[in-house]
Amino acid sequence: MASLKSINQDDLRNHNLSVVLDTMIRSVVPMSRAELAKATGLTKATMSLLVPMLISNKVIREGSPVSTAMYGRPSTPLIVDGGRFCGLGLQINTDGYGFTALDLNGDTVVEEWVGQSMNDSNPDEIFSKLDVLVRQAEKTIRARSMTVTGCGLALPGLVTDDMKLLTARNLGWSRIDLSRFDIVRRLDAHPDNEANMAALAQIPGYATQRRQGGIVGPADSFIYISTDIGIGGAVVLEGRVQTGEHGFAGEIGHVSVSFDGPVCSCGRRGCLEAYAGRRALVEAAGIAQGVNATRMEAIDELQKRWNSGDGATIQAVDRAVGAMASGIASAINVLDIDTVILGGLWERFGGALARRIERRTSPEIGGFPYVQAHVLIPEVNARPALQGAAEVGLRCLLDNPVAFMNKD
Ligand SMILES: [Zn+2]
Repeated sequence: MASLKSINQDDLRNHNLSVVLDTMIRSVVPMSRAELAKATGLTKATMSLLVPMLISNKVIREGSPVSTAMYGRPSTPLIVDGGRFCGLGLQINTDGYGFTALDLNGDTVVEEWVGQSMNDSNPDEIFSKLDVLVRQAEKTIRARSMTVTGCGLALPGLVTDDMKLLTARNLGWSRIDLSRFDIVRRLDAHPDNEANMAALAQIPGYATQRRQGGIVGPADSFIYISTDIGIGGAVVLEGRVQTGEHGFAGEIGHVSVSFDGPVCSCGRRGCLEAYAGRRALVEAAGIAQGVNATRMEAIDELQKRWNSGDGATIQAVDRAVGAMASGIASAINVLDIDTVILGGLWERFGGALARRIERRTSPEIGGFPYVQAHVLIPEVNARPALQGAAEVGLRCLLDNPVAFMNKD
């Protein structure tokens, strides 16, 4: 019976530490012990056991005491300390591969991206090149006396629960057992679709300190659309990414907006991706065709032509706006979530285009005008899937703090 009791107490302490850390990370202002006790429902006595443990393990630190009232003791704010732990994010995308390490404050510890065209790339070669890069970064992390808490891996395709990449069409990869790669096994990397990872990065206080402002709150619902050569998506309901029964939910790029439209890479006709994906836009504007249309220079040229008012480009973008509005309206009709975050390539066109998509989408929503689309440009926009992957790694600390702490 003695051991059963001690196991329960360990679990309870782990749970309580997790709740305290989660509460601190989601708060935009530092909280005192008393404020944390009130917010978490834990007693002040429990707080006085947990807080020293978090401080001695350098997860949090004490700020300067502040007087909040004329009488009584000044309160000491507790501050999330980024210096000790980091999460590792890996990504392989259509425009290259790389990694980032983020600390609890959301600051980058070390990061590298290798930009290259990934058409018909060899998965073994790419994963082993990534491994070499990351081993070097791990040395830097160790030299700073930091500990990696976990690792996420963002991929541009369908990832199953049992570590298989079913297909990543825009890389030309399919049916890959991810556990065959050394780097995946060594770091116990958690793989997921890049749009799911990018959506996580938009949730404030998911695994890094929440900052002032923010276009959505930690418990908000939204549809995230990731636009590149492919168009991916993720559904976030009350601050949680909804993955569906097989992990494939949110594939808005393969919602057909015209059943007799152009053939998509997936084999269906008239998918949103076939109108509004990077390659489709470049081809429709007459800038390049085939593999050449997937180059980054081609999209730079498209943006230049769009800014200078080129007729064919404006027409291609306009058709893509119509496709976006149709796809988004269908998603809103199915999910009844009216906030849409438009990430990736389409951010380049700016807020004015987001307003146009909003205006065209809203009348197509069943609940209009009671329900209207809100299309937002994300705040986290520098490789958000990479950041989300690192947050998946940091979340291991928040979910299971005791595993990373000295208990003395
Ligand atoms: Zn498709």
